[in-house]
Amino acid sequence: MKVALYARYSSDNQRTESIDAQLRYLKDFCKQNQYSIAKIYIDEAVSATNDNRPQFLQMINDSKLQIFEAIVVHKLDRFARNRYDSAFYKQEIKKYGVKVISALEKFDDSPESIILESVIEGMNEYYSANLSREVMKGMKETAYDCKHTGGTPPLGYDIDENKKYIINEFEASIVKNIFKMYLDGNGYSKILDSLKGLKTKTGNTFSKSSINSILGNEKYAGIYIFNKYKRVVVNGRKKNILNDEKDIIRIEGGIPQIISTEVFNKVNKKREENKNKFRSYKAKNNYVLTGLVKCGLCGSNMVGSSGVEGRNKRKYVRYKCTAKKNKKSCNNKDINRDVLDKMVIERIEKEMTQNIDRLTNSIYKYSQQKNKTSDNELKIYEKKLNDINKKISNILDVIMQGNFHASLDNKLTELENEKQRLEYNIEKTKSNKSSVTKQKVKAFLVAHQNISTKTFEEQKRIVNSFVESVVVYEDHVDINMVVSVYNGGEGN
Ligand SMILES: [Zn+2]
Repeated sequence: MKVALYARYSSDNQRTESIDAQLRYLKDFCKQNQYSIAKIYIDEAVSATNDNRPQFLQMINDSKLQIFEAIVVHKLDRFARNRYDSAFYKQEIKKYGVKVISALEKFDDSPESIILESVIEGMNEYYSANLSREVMKGMKETAYDCKHTGGTPPLGYDIDENKKYIINEFEASIVKNIFKMYLDGNGYSKILDSLKGLKTKTGNTFSKSSINSILGNEKYAGIYIFNKYKRVVVNGRKKNILNDEKDIIRIEGGIPQIISTEVFNKVNKKREENKNKFRSYKAKNNYVLTGLVKCGLCGSNMVGSSGVEGRNKRKYVRYKCTAKKNKKSCNNKDINRDVLDKMVIERIEKEMTQNIDRLTNSIYKYSQQKNKTSDNELKIYEKKLNDINKKISNILDVIMQGNFHASLDNKLTELENEKQRLEYNIEKTKSNKSSVTKQKVKAFLVAHQNISTKTFEEQKRIVNSFVESVVVYEDHVDINMVVSVYNGGEGN
């Protein structure tokens, strides 16, 4: 298999191995697995506060050329710093058949392994989040005084010399008008018309998106809010994404209120409803169960099928038997995609909730097994190292006695190299042992029980690791789960 190597060094993370060390590991790993190295990408001395990773982006781009089938990294946290980034880029390169391989963390395709990988990724993310949390501390202190932390304040507010928010009456009247018009049922275009000649806080003319952000800004309801967004890099571009709810600071009554809480809530309920309508209209025809659905009548695969039908041109999205579709040789009914997807996801969620202890044990056992293999490997390496040390000291004895010979020197160099290789293998095997505890696994599972709230790609990944097949009959559906995780129990 042709692979690309990626090494990254963060200057402010003392726990990171040097680029040289990473590359040594990686090259040795490729040798052992008989991978051929197509290209090497290195981002050096990149700070954790600086998201600029030129070689990384180049590599993601090169994935399209299909000059390598996998990207090998020393540890998963070298590939991406958080799960969001990781999922995004993995999905991106998967389109071109490229996967990510970690040299230190060994994974296969079993459900236990997939979950374990996520647990370890989650731990890396936690570590990196802890770092940035330290950095945020100072800023948060400012935040608790409800002071402005920089940037342009929103329309309707000025900042006084103590960095406190004060109301700008003229601008506040514009804000009030925008909320009132929206509540009265006016669309964004109508509201825009009424704002002709007026300017936003940054001196621009109003746009639909500026109105949208005004309507959603909790500050107008008097809520001081801090750390709502974080900056990430997606596809090489900086982007603000919503922070985890637990990292957002909200202080009610923290700043002077322009819109009453009641009006603010009404407006935002309405916005949410409109957004959902828009979303379901726009929803792409993604089929979570692709490849898993079988026709119960003829055994063919069932595939996604969508279009419009009837006089009202009603849109439909379904799974359809391929024999029915192609040869009209089957009579099985199509099944609504949303209904079937929901059925399967709810079943997995139920299994995950009800069998959480069994699942936790199974994953934990798997990680222990991995550790046991590592222990055996360690014993072998250590024994070899012992032998080599003895040989080296024997040769040194001979040399010390004055019997120096060129062949001895060669032998010594050879042994020293072998010794280095073994020491490296020992180090590698030691760090390969995971520090996963039952508590960590369970906490992770609990945090990830709500599959329906996950992105399409994540859902697909989870469904694929838990579901063997979904068989659709005319009057019922059989969901066959992957056995390994759930068998051996006494049921519900
Ligand atoms: Zn069929």
